[in-house]
Amino acid sequence: MTAHVLDGRAVAKQVYAEVGQAVSERVAKGGSRPRLATVLVGDDPASAQYVELKQRNARSVGIDSEDHRLPASTTTEELLGLVQKLNRDERVSAILIQQPTPKQIDMSRIVMEMDPVKDVDGFHPINAGKVALGLSDGVEPCTPAGIVYLLEKFGVPIASANAVIVGRSNLVGKPTALLLLKRNATVTVCHTKTRDLAGHTRTADILVAAAGRANLVTREMVKPGAAVVDVSTNWVDGRQVGDLGPGVEEVAGWLTPNPGGVGPMTRAMLIKNTYEAEVRRHP
Ligand code: NAP
Repeated sequence: MTAHVLDGRAVAKQVYAEVGQAVSERVAKGGSRPRLATVLVGDDPASAQYVELKQRNARSVGIDSEDHRLPASTTTEELLGLVQKLNRDERVSAILIQQPTPKQIDMSRIVMEMDPVKDVDGFHPINAGKVALGLSDGVEPCTPAGIVYLLEKFGVPIASANAVIVGRSNLVGKPTALLLLKRNATVTVCHTKTRDLAGHTRTADILVAAAGRANLVTREMVKPGAAVVDVSTNWVDGRQVGDLGPGVEEVAGWLTPNPGGVGPMTRAMLIKNTYEAEVRRHP
C-alpha cells in the first residue's frame, strides 16, 4: 500500500482562499479589517523568517499586520508593557509572540497578561480551559487545530477511531488529544514514561507523532491503513525530517508529508484564528 497524501500545502491554500473571501466580504459590508500584531524578541534569523512568513500570509488574505521588534535584552516587564499596549489598541485583533523568546522572559506571565480574545495561539489558560471543556468559543491552538482540520478535510474517520498521540506537550500533544476526543475518538497519549510504546501505536487508526525524535516511529509500529500525522520538525544533516522511520508510507493509509503537512496548516490556522478573533470582537 502507498499512503494517500494528507497534503497540508494544498489545504492551507484553500483556507487562505476562504479567509480572504470572508475578509473582503466583511470589509465590503463596512466591517472592520482584521489586524495581526507580531512580536519578535531578539534577532534569531529562523524566528525572523517565521515572522515574515506569517506577515506575508496575513497580507495575502487582506489582513493588516504590524511587526514589533524588541532587542534580545528585553525584560519580562518590558514585554508585558507592549502586550498591555496591544491589548488596549482597538485596531489590533490578534497578538502573536514568536517563540522561543530569550530565556530571561517569563512567558507564563506574558501569556497570562494577554487578552484571551487576542491570544491567536490559544495559549491563555482561558482558551486552554475552553478546549479542555470542549467549548467552541475559545481559541484553539494552531498546530492541533491544523491537524484536525487536515484529517477532516481528507475524510479520515475520527469518531470511534483509536487515536494515539506520541507527545504530551501543552503546545501539541495535549490539545490534539482533546480536539480528537471532542470528535469522539478514543484517545491514548504516550510520552517518555510510556511502557511498550509500539504496543500502543500499533492500535492506532490515527497516529500523531509529536515527539521531536527522528526515526522514533518505525514501520513495524504502524497499523496497516492508519492515518499518520508527522508533526515534528527535526533537523538531520541540514534536512527537515519528522519522527517517522523509512517505509511508514508503505504501511500507512494516509500520511502527512514532512515538510508540507502540519507546518503549512499551522500557519493557515493562525490566519484563520486572526480573522475569527476580529469577528468575535466585532460580530
Ligand atoms: P516537546 O515539548 O519537546 O514535547 C515532546 C513530547 O514528546 C514530550 O511529551 C515527550 O515526553 C515526548 N517524547 C519525546 N521522546 C519520546 C520518546 N522516545 N517516546 C515517547 N514520547 C517521547 O515538543 P512539542 O513542542 O510538543 O513539539 C513536538 C515536535 O513538533 C517538535 O519537533 C516541534 O518542533 C514540532 N512542532 C511542529 C509544528 C509544526 O507546525 N509543524 C508546530 C509545533 C511543534 P515527556 O513529556 O515524557 O518528556
